[in-house]
Amino acid sequence: MPRHLRSGRRALLLLVALMTTATVGRLPAQQAAPAAGIDVAGMDRAVKPGDNFFLYANGTWIKDTPIPADRSSYGVGSILDELTSRRVADLIKEAADANAPAGSNLRKIGDFYSSFMDTTAIDAAGLKPLQPLLDTIAAIGDRTALARFLGSTLRADVDVLNATNYYTENLFGLWVAQDLDEPTQYSPFLLQGGLEMPDRSYYLDPSEGMAAIRTKYQAHVAAMLTLAGIPGAAAKAAAIVQLETKIARAHWSREESGDVLKGNNHWAASEFATRAPGLEWGAYLGAAGLAGAPRFVVWQPSAVTGLSALTASEPLDTWKSYLTFHAIQSRAAFLPQPFAQQTFAFYGVVLSGAQKPRDRWKRGVSATNIALGFAVGQLYTSKYFPPAEKARAEAMVANLMAAFAERIDHLDWMAPSTKAEAKAKLAVLKVGVGYPDTWPSYDGYEVVAGDAYGNAERFGRFKLRTNLARLGKPVDRSEWVMTPQTVNAVNLPAMNSMNFPAAILQPPFFDPNRPGSMDYGAMGAIIGHEVSHSFDNTGALFDATGRLHNWWTPEDFKHFEASSKQLAKQYDAYRPFPDLAVNGQQTLGENIADLAGLTAALGAYQRSLGGQPAPTMQGFSGDQQFFVSFAQSWRQKEREQALRRGILTDGHAPDEYRALTVRNIDAWYAAFGVQPGQTLYLAPKDRVRVW
Ligand SMILES: [Zn+2]
Repeated sequence: MPRHLRSGRRALLLLVALMTTATVGRLPAQQAAPAAGIDVAGMDRAVKPGDNFFLYANGTWIKDTPIPADRSSYGVGSILDELTSRRVADLIKEAADANAPAGSNLRKIGDFYSSFMDTTAIDAAGLKPLQPLLDTIAAIGDRTALARFLGSTLRADVDVLNATNYYTENLFGLWVAQDLDEPTQYSPFLLQGGLEMPDRSYYLDPSEGMAAIRTKYQAHVAAMLTLAGIPGAAAKAAAIVQLETKIARAHWSREESGDVLKGNNHWAASEFATRAPGLEWGAYLGAAGLAGAPRFVVWQPSAVTGLSALTASEPLDTWKSYLTFHAIQSRAAFLPQPFAQQTFAFYGVVLSGAQKPRDRWKRGVSATNIALGFAVGQLYTSKYFPPAEKARAEAMVANLMAAFAERIDHLDWMAPSTKAEAKAKLAVLKVGVGYPDTWPSYDGYEVVAGDAYGNAERFGRFKLRTNLARLGKPVDRSEWVMTPQTVNAVNLPAMNSMNFPAAILQPPFFDPNRPGSMDYGAMGAIIGHEVSHSFDNTGALFDATGRLHNWWTPEDFKHFEASSKQLAKQYDAYRPFPDLAVNGQQTLGENIADLAGLTAALGAYQRSLGGQPAPTMQGFSGDQQFFVSFAQSWRQKEREQALRRGILTDGHAPDEYRALTVRNIDAWYAAFGVQPGQTLYLAPKDRVRVW
């Protein structure tokens, strides 16, 4: 259930983020300063709006813009990503040169980045920083010591609902979040982990391609051990991969893990010994800093049971080899360069198809952005997101919420009791605009100049400590999960809150130098999209307090499903290739959100006019500005391979079809004189109205 606006290239692993070619790129000069208003030159006025609204709004740009050689797609999102990444990189490098007061965030940013860049010091230190950890592993003499060591590896590195990351290379991962039964309290959520490849399927899928990856993986494990001077590398690698394969067998699939109703299992601390025998849980939880926690949410119970059993059944020496490899692998980015090079050869080339590692400075920017993301975000917003823009965005959000409330009142299909609950939910919705009300503190996070390895280690522990400290405190719904320098938006379903980062509140989505019509068409539709997720079939699982409790009646669901079917059919008919159509069912939730978002944005735009006529601009009426701006906000070109992969795997429809949401809105027909017989024309009864 994707709740992000767009599926970005979110890194699966910190490691991969630090290895592969990705986001920080070169900004084409002609894109540096997007012009205010509608990009009239990028339109294709030879195309009738009613035949292909996407090409009408974007045709000339599509024709004239090549996809850069190192990319699989290019458009509004990538251009903004590039601009923002470049700005962030400059801010981080400035911090490194600033010689700011010791202990300040600016100093931490600068020292973190400079230390990462100091390969001379990193290479000279060799394995010395890692040695104490390797010695501790070597000294593990019994299962109690094993449990204690495993407990010491626990980090707050997973998230099932908000940032949505199910992966940890440690045996288990921790997420401290609002309890889904008692939403005023935080609970520790325990998730499966323990694999160094991204998912169980890499270990278990019988296909030839995956088998070939496994062979290369085992060679990679041996190579890493050899680099570290560990004797008997080949035999140990075989045993390590075997153990990971057993772990993979116990794992839940990604799809199962995404099912909130399956994952919400509460275990008392005292129950672990009987429900998941094997691991000495007292020793484990004590070493993890969780000795006092009375109960846990165990997200994948059979996996926790399976992994715990393996800690007792598998030879202690195998565990020690496994832990040695994990200790090296998960820290490779901060070790001497041969470790990073070997890691890239597997994770970059074999797993991601990358040609060459990203430049080190780009990896340094990424690492700093991960460890000190909100401190960097504070620099970013103070330079690029003035208070006037925050106020303008907040006013737009208020209008969107009012438009939504009005729509709920006028729904003929929703039961009165459901409407009341929907209104209650709308009333408590906490919408974060630009950046959090309170900046997260980095006090207690010690960054030491010249100690790249230690800075990364201390970050992991600092994050764990801050998360453990939340247990027993009231839930803070103003917390953010996306940094302000992220070009995206997110709905946090249990928290009944949303984050609209500053980096998406810029042209062409949001621009003070043009009429509001265009902002409502682009950014307003995005805000509406995210708000609507609170009221769709996923949103229906969480009530106004954030409790996991379905508040829809069976009749509401029936109606929702009926209009859903109609919308799914509409998208099934889009055929980018003779042999491949858009999958209306797979993209349904997001298409509904697009439709709801656009409808609410139009309502909000009309409210914003306060009864005054809309000014004509660049030859377009207010409604025309609104719709063209919407279609231009989906401007994107994709290579055939990427488009095909997206159609098969993405929960969102391809951007050019998202732009065609307009054909369900009556006002679009009036604005462009769309007539029967034109390709996109739908008779009024065939226009889908969910909200
Ligand atoms: Zn969405």
